[in-house]
Amino acid sequence: MSAVIINGNEIREGILADLREEVAALKAKHGVVPGLVTIMLGEHPASVSYVSLKIKTAKGLGFNEIQVSLPENISETDLLETIEKYNRDDRVHGILVQLPLPKHISEQKVINAIRPEKDVDGFHPVNVGKTLIGDTTGFRPCTPAGILEMIIRSGINTSGAEVVVVGRSNIVGKPIAAMMMQKGPGGDATVTVVHTRTKDLSYHCRRADILIVAAGVPGLVKSSWIKPGACVIDVGVNRVGEKKDDKTGRIIPLLRGDVDFEEAREIAGWITPVPGGVGPMTIAMLMSNTVRSLKRSLLLI
Ligand code: NAP
Repeated sequence: MSAVIINGNEIREGILADLREEVAALKAKHGVVPGLVTIMLGEHPASVSYVSLKIKTAKGLGFNEIQVSLPENISETDLLETIEKYNRDDRVHGILVQLPLPKHISEQKVINAIRPEKDVDGFHPVNVGKTLIGDTTGFRPCTPAGILEMIIRSGINTSGAEVVVVGRSNIVGKPIAAMMMQKGPGGDATVTVVHTRTKDLSYHCRRADILIVAAGVPGLVKSSWIKPGACVIDVGVNRVGEKKDDKTGRIIPLLRGDVDFEEAREIAGWITPVPGGVGPMTIAMLMSNTVRSLKRSLLLI
């Protein structure tokens, strides 16, 4: 039987609709809207399209969206000063700096410079630590938060489940592993994290009730590695070529995930497509973090 396709676009729309109502209610009652600052250095094509989608989404929700475009050769000191300016601005509830940064700037220094209460990307060590210890007052990073939201909204049981995470990056693999091993809803799983030094990758994948793949290797996971009925979350976004968009006629990148989708869907119980799976969730969770930040500043949560 074919797997249930977990539709990230549909789940995202539901989350955004709820947020839109919440933002309108906050504005009506408290006279404030969420303020989100996006700082971008230079014009990396992938970042430009991602940032413009963030801006469009934030504006659609009624946020005060501030886009700061800085030259790629800006000094580290000047960038840190810009961040500090928004740290001190009460109208701003979320600050994010689009990564990756040019080589002359320390990514960790920049992340550390954002006040943890405005770090809606969830990358500051304070928020990373809170995610690890299960302190819900922090911000969880957006992609793993989106993955967990998809799993929960799809009604997939995590308690006692064998979860295997392929990849140990700070933005996906480590935090999703930390989140799913917590006590409580969406947690209580038995988590294994595998990576390039793992001896037998397919052995671990075959044990998984929930398989989360974030390696960045197109088609890495074969259908024979999937336990029948398992939930497969494919985080990978790999450009494998170009194609003509059916609607606009424009040339767009051809994307492929880390899982062999067409064959895997015949074995899995649930599966996320690429594109249209995890990708759309990341921005939704960023918006959700920003609304939470505003509510915290108003002492509502
Ligand atoms: P990353 O920092 O490059 O980490 C990749 C991880 O996968 C590493 O831990 C690496 O192991 C492991 N890995 C790579 N090849 C492997 C293999 N052949 N066997 C086993 N493990 C392997 O990547 P990332 O930032 O986590 O991103 C992963 C993928 O998710 C990318 O395709 C990225 O574009 C995508 N992504 C999507 C979203 C989204 O949809 N919103 C967000 C973030 C990332 P080692 O540690 O041993 O090197």
